[in-house]
This record gives sequence, C-alpha cells and structure tokens, in this order.
Amino acid sequence: MKVRIFDTTLRDGEQTIGVSLSPDQKLSIAKKLDALGVDAIEAGFPVISEGELKAVKMITAEGLSCEVAGLTRTIKNDIDAAVEAGLNYIHTFIATSDIHLEYKLKMTRDQALEKAIEAVEYGKSRGLQVEFSAEDATRTDREFLKKVFGEVAKAGADRVNIPDTVGYSTPEYMADLTRDTVEATKLPVSVHCHNDFGLAVANALSGIHAGASCAHVTINGIGERAGNASLEEFSMALQCLPYEKKYETNIKSELIYETSRYVSKIVGIKVQPNKAIVGDNAFGHESGIHTHGVLNNPLTYEPISPELVGRKRRLRVGKHAGIHGMNAMLEEFGVKTTEEQSQQILDKIKILGDQGKQITDVELLSIASDVLGEKGIKRIVQLTGFSVSTGIGTMPYAFVKLNIDGKEFVGTDHGVGPVDAALNAIQTITGRISELRIKDYGLASISGGSSALCEVTISVEDAQGNRVSSKSIGEDIVTTSVQAVIDGINRIMLKKMLKEKQVN
Ligand code: MN
Repeated sequence: MKVRIFDTTLRDGEQTIGVSLSPDQKLSIAKKLDALGVDAIEAGFPVISEGELKAVKMITAEGLSCEVAGLTRTIKNDIDAAVEAGLNYIHTFIATSDIHLEYKLKMTRDQALEKAIEAVEYGKSRGLQVEFSAEDATRTDREFLKKVFGEVAKAGADRVNIPDTVGYSTPEYMADLTRDTVEATKLPVSVHCHNDFGLAVANALSGIHAGASCAHVTINGIGERAGNASLEEFSMALQCLPYEKKYETNIKSELIYETSRYVSKIVGIKVQPNKAIVGDNAFGHESGIHTHGVLNNPLTYEPISPELVGRKRRLRVGKHAGIHGMNAMLEEFGVKTTEEQSQQILDKIKILGDQGKQITDVELLSIASDVLGEKGIKRIVQLTGFSVSTGIGTMPYAFVKLNIDGKEFVGTDHGVGPVDAALNAIQTITGRISELRIKDYGLASISGGSSALCEVTISVEDAQGNRVSSKSIGEDIVTTSVQAVIDGINRIMLKKMLKEKQVN
C-alpha cells in the first residue's frame, strides 16, 4: 500500500522558534523536497505576510511534480489569498477542542462547525482541493470530532486531517481516532503528529495502521515546540521495519541525508548527533565489540545499511575501541601495523580516552606515525603571511598568504568581522584548490579578563563530505582562529593524501 507523504517543512517547520525563510530559500527547499519524492508540500500560510505570499507564488509557479498546498484559516480572506498565490489545494483548519474554543476562538462547538462547513464549501466553490483539519483533534470531544469530520465530508472536503496539535496522543488513541474518522468520512485521512512526548512517529505509524493513507511530516522533525513527525524516520520505518512490509512511499531514500543536511543548513538548526537516520552518530561505531561485529557483518549492529539513506558508516576509536576496528581504520589509510604496534597504538588511544579525549582519525594517524617511528604529520599547508584590518566605518578585510605543497597562494576577502574576513580569505584559496569548506566554528574564553586565553574549535569538510575538526588555543582571537583552520586543513589534506596513496 502506498502511503502519501505530505511535507510541511515549509509551513509547520518554518514555525520553529528562530526560523524565518526568505522566498528564495523557501523555493530552494521546495525543489529539494520535490526531488526527494514527497507527494505534497505545504508551501506556507499565504495570508500572513507579503513575503509569504510571494514565496508561495514562486513555488506554485515553479511547476513542481508534487502537489502544493497552502494553509488557511476557515476565513474567506485566507482562502482568497491562497487562490491569489496560485494554489489549487488548501489545507484549512479550525480548532475543535473545548479549550481552544473557549480561550482562543471564543466560539461554541456549533459555531466552529458552521465555520468549518462554510470554509470547505467556499474552497470548493473556488475550484480548490480542500483538506480539512480539526485543530487539536486529539483533545477534542470524540463524538463531536466525528460529527465535525462527517459534516465537512458532506460539505465536499476532499481529504481530512487529524492533527495531534500538542503531541498529546498515544499510538492507541491515534488509531481509535483514525478509525472513527475513516468511518465518518470515507475520505482519505491524514495524520499530523507532534513530538512533545517523543511519540510523533509512533503516532503517525499507528494512524497508518488504522487506515490513514497520509502523514504530515517535516525534514529533521522541525516544527512547533518539540517538532513534527520526521520525514526520514517515518518513511524509513515504513520502508524497513518488518511489521511495515506492506507499505511503501515515493521517497527516494538515498537522497534523505543530503536533503536533511540541506534543510539544516538553510534553516540554521543543527541535527542532534543521536538523531535517528540523519544524526552524525546514527551509523557510527566506537565500541570494540560493535566495530568487530560490523566489520564481519554490518547487520550485526546496524538495522539498515547507511547507503540506503545516502550515508557512509563511520568508525571511531576511543576508550571502548578494540584492535579489529582500529586496524580497519588504519588500513583505510593504507597504514599496516604488526600485532605489537597495533597494541601500542591502542594502549595510547585508551589512555587518551580515559582522559576524556575524543580521538579523531587524524589523531589516530598521528599516534600511529609516532609508534611506527615515522615523522609527525607533514604540514602540507603553511601560513606564510597574514594581516587583517578592522574598525568602525570600514569593512573588516583580510590578506592571507599560504604555501601549499611548495606553491604560494594569496587570498583576500571581506567579512562581518576580522575572524570572518580571515576565514573567508583562507577559503578563497582552499576553495579553489580542493573545495575545502569550514563547517563549524566555536569560540570559548578560557580565563577571564580582556587578556583571556581563547579556544577555537573548527571543523573542515572536503567535497566528499570527509570532516575533521581541530582546536587551537591562544591569546589573539583572530590568529588563533586562523591557526585552527590551517591545522584543520592540514589534517584533511593529509587524510586525502593517504587515501590517494592507497589507491595508487
Ligand atoms: Mn502542527
């Protein structure tokens, strides 16, 4: 059975605190979602602002292959704005729970029902596909909810949606409401689940089992408060879990990770590392027992192959590491060790791990080269000149000279501040050479006062998505930042060089 994916990243997702997207950004996300294979997107709430209207217009004009919906209240003016935005599909809603009726709408149940019917009839009279939502459905009197859905179906609604607006439902209750709604409407039913108790995806799956044919979801689960059911978790659970075998979606799962990263970057919300499917650690292994198992057969400790969602497995070493995993990582870089050398390297890793240190693959290589009696990490990139100017009434500007493998490169750039200008200038060079990008930048002050030491942590990523992080401590924020970036670039280039050596 095909389950319809209705993505509301651009509407509910945009209602995440701190998120506000420009029309161009919304259009770029809409295109990504379309490429991912969602069946419908909720592009926005056209009546709320000029920019929102413009964004929805741009999206409807784009000719995407998915359906495009817009949110409206049960108000004529909202529906007119949707038509003006070029929409032929609206998602119209009114609250039906007593708490919303009394404190928000100041309406009786009958008045709300009347508004719902009017809006559906008006939407149909304007030639629109109409999906009706009874907001706060899961806290609505069950009999009244059935009545509302039955009446809007009679009024001509094409679809109805059960919103668990405050994430208050359990899977059992979602199933009950879904069965009620299917029976009362005989229409396609959607479920819209929020994650206030971490149950959004479980509730959405339960709705599907009970007869719903569509779920409203968002990329990375962003949305109001604790967010919505996440597209990646919901669609992969449907596709992969044994109980769900009879369901499928149109999602091109191999694009999931890329889409997640793209949305995260544009909306400016990081994905937590332990987030299912798309978190940094979702396919990472450190413990010796797990790594050993995965190396023999990935299915021992991975429910699905990372490639299925466009990812790669990530092995790390640390205090839980075992010799097999560590050797596998070293071999990846073409480093062969004797049994005794391996043991020595592992002992050093465990000592660092016990001190609470994270061991990146570059640190592993560095420890290995100590043990193998080779020189430390070769510095491929050297900073040979640097200056920065800043002030008031002038734009911060930086000049950087780098020696990369014997060749001199010069870069200059502006920035919002001196650190930004310096990092931009470096990137004008490294971006040209190997498409290196600075992904994260963190600054902390170690001691108090204006002469405090600062600690800069950065991570650098190459075009293949390989990432390394580095840290530098110093007195001058700008030069410490530059040092950290140069270290990171050296590390990632070393990694690349060793990889290339191994290939040749
Ligand atoms: Mn919502």
